Amino acid sequence: MTCPICRNGELANSAADQTLSHEGTTLVVKSVPAEVCDNCGEAFFSADVTQRLLDLARAAAADGVVVDVRTYVAA
Ligand SMILES: [Zn+2]
Repeated sequence: MTCPICRNGELANSAADQTLSHEGTTLVVKSVPAEVCDNCGEAFFSADVTQRLLDLARAAAADGVVVDVRTYVAA
């Protein structure tokens, strides 16, 4: 699949780090499954993964976390 951002690269199954901000919480999630462009490096996440990241950010915010770094674990 061609990258929709740069229109030059190809997307490949890989993993990427994603930084989330939610209600004052900053959560860095490492090794998130993603399609990553081999040209510009843009990472695209599936709907399921995006939902999981939102859940993680909400849970961290509810716990009063300010900054945290975690490794992605599927639900
Ligand atoms: Zn690209």
